[in-house]
Amino acid sequence: MRVHVVTMFPGWFDGPLGTSIGARAIEDGVVEVVIHDLREHGVGRHRQLDDAPFGGGPGMVMMVEPLSRALTPLAHTHRVLFTPSGRPMDQSTLDRWSAMAEVTLVCGRYEGVDQRVIDHLIDEEVSLGDYVLAGGEVAAAAAIEGVTRLLPGVVGNPESVRHESFRDGLLEEPVYTRPAVFGDWAVPEVLLSGDHARIEDWRREQRLKRTRDRRPDLLGDGTG
Ligand code: SAM
Repeated sequence: MRVHVVTMFPGWFDGPLGTSIGARAIEDGVVEVVIHDLREHGVGRHRQLDDAPFGGGPGMVMMVEPLSRALTPLAHTHRVLFTPSGRPMDQSTLDRWSAMAEVTLVCGRYEGVDQRVIDHLIDEEVSLGDYVLAGGEVAAAAAIEGVTRLLPGVVGNPESVRHESFRDGLLEEPVYTRPAVFGDWAVPEVLLSGDHARIEDWRREQRLKRTRDRRPDLLGDGTG
């Protein structure tokens, strides 16, 4: 899979892409990340990227021309713009992207992007959540990490990505490891019972309880 990132801050990605499973997946050739420096497409001597909004108002808007120059050669890819106005990014978004050969992630800055870019050069607008960040880079890094771990061979045990939060519309149950008792904090007895059916029942019950308590919206069936 190839992921293109269009950003004003190419150096921003050195950290996220240089660490942990992202770095390993890149090294193993499972995913290729191509960073496109938007500044190279800036207008004029100062490589301008933004201008004042028509109609007035605060802040600056990212101009059409640099984004058009950056995105036209990527027209064969699925082009995503990160924006608070987009649909929320969730596990199904990442599942969908992980099945694509080439995706382009566009990071906004300032007050956002001239609407004509969105109308003509963007396939999908996606939000990281209901809050406003300074730029789309954090969202792009989250998407790259979330997609990469879905690609075959990246997570050691493929069962891990099949049994985790959101897979069956539920949050994951609490998990424990050794020691069974730490001071007076004990692991739930059922997990030490060796009774796999009882353990499975307990886990499902915990998943349901957690989801009902914290994310009733995920149940969507009235039980929340
Ligand atoms: N004026 C915009 C608004 O009110 O929706 C916010 C612009 S924000 C300061 C600058 C850029 O950061 C956006 O163009 C977008 O690319 C990115 N951004 C900020 N919050 C985001 C979020 N929740 N999800 C995705 N991208 C976000």
